[in-house]
Amino acid sequence: MTEMKPFEIARETLKQLTLRKLSPTPVNYQRIYSEIAGVPVEPPFPVDRLREIALALPAKTPGQQKQRGLLESAITQLNWDGVKNSLMAYGGFSPPASASNGVINAALVDTAMPVVLAPEPKALVVPTPAAFTTDFFQQIARLIEHALPALGQDDARFSEQTQTLLGALRQPNADAVALKQLLANYSHRLSFAAEDQAEVKKVLLKLLHLIIQNISHLSLDDSWLKGQVDAIMSVCVAPLTLRRLDDVEQRLKDVIFKQTEAKQRMLQAQEEMRAMLGMFIERLAAMSESTGSFHMQMEENAKLIEQAKSMAEIAPVLKNVVSATRVMAHDSQAARDELQGMKKKVESTEAELVKLHQELDRVSAQARHDPLTGALNRQGMDEAVNREVSNFKRKETPLSMALLDIDNFKKLNDTLGHATGDVALTHLASVTREVMRPQDTLARYGGEEFVILMPDTPLDQGVEAMTRLQRELSKRFFMAGSEKVLITFSAGVAQMGAAETGQEAIRRADQAMYLAKRAGKNRVFAA
Ligand code: GH3
Ligand code: MG
Ligand code: MG
Repeated sequence: MTEMKPFEIARETLKQLTLRKLSPTPVNYQRIYSEIAGVPVEPPFPVDRLREIALALPAKTPGQQKQRGLLESAITQLNWDGVKNSLMAYGGFSPPASASNGVINAALVDTAMPVVLAPEPKALVVPTPAAFTTDFFQQIARLIEHALPALGQDDARFSEQTQTLLGALRQPNADAVALKQLLANYSHRLSFAAEDQAEVKKVLLKLLHLIIQNISHLSLDDSWLKGQVDAIMSVCVAPLTLRRLDDVEQRLKDVIFKQTEAKQRMLQAQEEMRAMLGMFIERLAAMSESTGSFHMQMEENAKLIEQAKSMAEIAPVLKNVVSATRVMAHDSQAARDELQGMKKKVESTEAELVKLHQELDRVSAQARHDPLTGALNRQGMDEAVNREVSNFKRKETPLSMALLDIDNFKKLNDTLGHATGDVALTHLASVTREVMRPQDTLARYGGEEFVILMPDTPLDQGVEAMTRLQRELSKRFFMAGSEKVLITFSAGVAQMGAAETGQEAIRRADQAMYLAKRAGKNRVFAA
């Protein structure tokens, strides 16, 4: 070690650089300086390379942004420890306790408490450990409170435990060790409560299936209900979302409405039939009564004729016979007329029942679902659009809408028949339901045009989802007799604008779809 002062070392360094004909770069300067000062040669701090690394790291979440700010600051200060701690936090490891730059475990921050760092205006402002801890406990308390509605309130012991934990978390200067124990107990009990809720959901779903099956068994006429029941069954499967439940509710309302209508009218028809049957039996009884008395009269007359000794005695008997026969014939005619009338009435009631079935089918068409594909019809779609648009405004999350139109559908109808065209529509609807997320809504917009509502979806992801559907459809053919049929579609996707109505967004999607057709079909265009 030399006793030279720093400025003397610096002067000597410059001299040596000149003598050795070295270019005055920072690297050369540092090497000579260390040599003269007798200290180990530190490799140069690779500021530029480290900055490149910092820039390449993701900064999507507040936690990542924070860590990147800390890393950049450490690079600027040529601080290896800072760099090390930031990178460790990025990798999800806690930095050593002695770390003084306030680096926080990024993995912990990002996954468990995503909002801890979010409101901080500047990346380099770090809370003191005590403030951070208080804030952290508050966040846990809030997290627990937010999760409560999902767990129900049936378990009194669990509710009590929750309140105790919340109280402890909110205490100023809460004891971390005691809290850790409370949290561990709570987490144990929570796992049971969560399991219970999952089980309750499963059982409820099973019950729902049973009820729907029963409705179908109890229905007076399966033919018009079967499609509806199948459609309900297909939507009420896990995972149940609010949208899916809403869909089930609407479909059940349609069915119940139809069933009630039909039942009332059928009961009325049954009542009419019963009344007619009563009249018929009454009439039969009267007839047999009158024929009975006719026979008695005839027997009596026959006896009188047998006993008669002259024509003069027979004449009044014959008169009786003629009059009794006339009465009998008249009665029979009246009975025949009456029965004829009843027959007509039965026929007209029957015709009315047929009309009633036709009416029910018409009502079904007016319901919210398209009977062929099970997708929402126009009315159902309008309701769904209104619902999604108000959600979009309330939650301020992006909403995308796609309009798709099957390519060359007329040709498919012409070559393979209308029935195959119908199968193609059903096929498209079922593949779409499988590929899209449960919260997406499928509606039949027109003949071979469908609208898909995609909540919480920005434009690029909407386009991506439609492209995914397109890819899936290109893998799935359906059979028309022995022929494999593949269908394609063209689609336009629009992201709902803040000042737009749902109809305007769909119109934009329609225009983009038209451009996709013009560009050669089988493609997805963003509006
Ligand atoms: P492009 O690729 O340009 O969309 O041509 P395209 O043939 O698909 O379209 P176009 O609008 O010319 O024809 C649509 C056809 O869809 C005409 C109509 O008969 C048929 N269609 C509409 N509704 C139904 C339906 O419910 N079932 C069947 N099978 N066909 C339908
Ligand atoms: Mg069309
Ligand atoms: Mg078409």
